Amino acid sequence: MPPMPHLMLFPVALAVALATPAYAEEHHAHVHHAHVHGVAKLEVAVEGGSLSLHLESPLEGVLGFEHAPGNDKERAIVAQMRKAMANGSALFAPTSAAKCRFVDSKLEAPTLDAKPARKPEKQAKHAEQAHGDLDADFRFTCAEPAKLTGMEVRLFNAFPKMRRIDAQVVSDKGQKATRLSSKMRFLSW
Ligand SMILES: [Zn+2]
Repeated sequence: MPPMPHLMLFPVALAVALATPAYAEEHHAHVHHAHVHGVAKLEVAVEGGSLSLHLESPLEGVLGFEHAPGNDKERAIVAQMRKAMANGSALFAPTSAAKCRFVDSKLEAPTLDAKPARKPEKQAKHAEQAHGDLDADFRFTCAEPAKLTGMEVRLFNAFPKMRRIDAQVVSDKGQKATRLSSKMRFLSW
């Protein structure tokens, strides 16, 4: 006597039912910037005589903390960081033969403008949930763009807590990704 066909159909039907739940709905595309302490991201765009840089870093890497300054010491650290970021020619050294000139920089760090925590030291112990990022843009113009082939990134000198920079260069030669560290500071394209 042959096996009853419906006994075989049942597990197949069950498997199909299990394979088609709306799992896609649980799979939200959370597009977060990676927030890893010590790791920054640098986007470099080379276009003719203009060199534009966009830096993203956890505040920890440039300040050592990630909350609005709550005392004089923290305010001084923030002021020093803002001063360093305003001096783009000390942070980035494009090929000298290209005669690039630092134009300006712009910094955004909403966390720093937030209301200061009442007791930042005490809060910091529990503040695993509190993170903050910084976005900074730097612009250079170069008189001899044909000679512009790279730049030294000196952020590691100014911000020793920064351990790694994932850099991405877009130029007329295409795209290039480079991982920088204090021992590997040159970006070439
Ligand atoms: Zn953080």
